[in-house]
Amino acid sequence: MSSGEFGEYGGRHVPEPLEEPLERLANAYDEIGRGEAFQAEFRDHLEAYAGRPTPLYYAGNLSDRYGADIFLKREDLLHGGAHKINNCLGQALLAKKAGRERLIAETGAGQHGTATAMVGALFGLDTEIYMGKKDVERQRMNVFRMRLMGADVTEVTRGGQGLADAVDAALEDLVENVDHTHYLVGSVVGPDPFPRMVRDFQSVIGEEAREQFIERTGELPDAAVACVGGGSNAMGLFHAFRDDDVAFYGAEGGGEGADSTRHAAPLATGTDEVIHGMKTRVIDEDVEVHSVSAGLDYPGVGPEHAMFREVGRCEYTGVTDEEALAAFRELSETEGIIPALETSHAVARAIQLAEEGAHETILVNLSGRGDKDMETAAEKFEFA
Ligand SMILES: *Cc1c(COP(=O)(O)O)cnc(C)c1O
Repeated sequence: MSSGEFGEYGGRHVPEPLEEPLERLANAYDEIGRGEAFQAEFRDHLEAYAGRPTPLYYAGNLSDRYGADIFLKREDLLHGGAHKINNCLGQALLAKKAGRERLIAETGAGQHGTATAMVGALFGLDTEIYMGKKDVERQRMNVFRMRLMGADVTEVTRGGQGLADAVDAALEDLVENVDHTHYLVGSVVGPDPFPRMVRDFQSVIGEEAREQFIERTGELPDAAVACVGGGSNAMGLFHAFRDDDVAFYGAEGGGEGADSTRHAAPLATGTDEVIHGMKTRVIDEDVEVHSVSAGLDYPGVGPEHAMFREVGRCEYTGVTDEEALAAFRELSETEGIIPALETSHAVARAIQLAEEGAHETILVNLSGRGDKDMETAAEKFEFA
């Protein structure tokens, strides 16, 4: 049981009609979701449907080049190509057990919408995905994928027609349909219980990695590195090492650089605010949310990360678009593994740490694969 507070961050800052439903969800999570029967069923789905456990891979070529032993936790090999399926399976299964018939979600680039469409099909739940009109136009293939799996994709035409407008539309839907609908939140963000529930569903990443690392090397890693959008893959990796002597590094979307007004690095440079139902770090008012990777394009961040920053448990740095693209190319060339652009921020941070000689062994969460980013990358690189 928990109040959903992380130091001074987190909480449940929502309009009155959502208070009671969130309390019910929190109770369902505590009573059903954390129970043994649920956990066993969840694990079965993680194995048979999503493809767990994922391997821990020693990146020998990259390690030789930079002088530290770099290990990759291969979440890119999961069904759907990223860690998102862990959380979607957990929440959809809980929604089903709690008697919900319908899932809704918002999506920006379409990755979370696609993962939600998968679990909607799997569990036979009606699924509606809210997506800004601009994103629908930019992400035709993801929209097609979602519809192919039976989800309704609703174009949001208000405001800037982007992710924030899709969140608003989904919240309105929830208020209207709360008796039979579950809002499947895509990261460790939003009001309680989402930050702790999503963290718990993703913590399988770190639990596996910890065991695999010890089995392989006889020790714990010196450092763990992950990219931070909302912060779910990072928290999923970190949680199992929380009480260990392992240094944590979070790589945010540094966009055009720390001095610019276009980035997505609320922990490296933001201020404390209430946003989307939680108190957390949010990028400054004069900053435009921007990252080369759509998955890091979020103005806030999970409240537990805000706490980790506050108490110094994790160091958060903005990695620029340029640095991420260089790492994207580097991992592709050295290891034959094409990471997602989000993930490339973590790879870039790991390379920096290795070059600085900061740590001997570095564990990187390879949160997703880069197939979805081919068009963006092809615009940036030319091969002579
Ligand atoms: C969505 C996404 C992210 C960002 O989300 P987090 O909640 O911060 O993990 C990172 N990597 C990949 C591959 C993604 O698809």
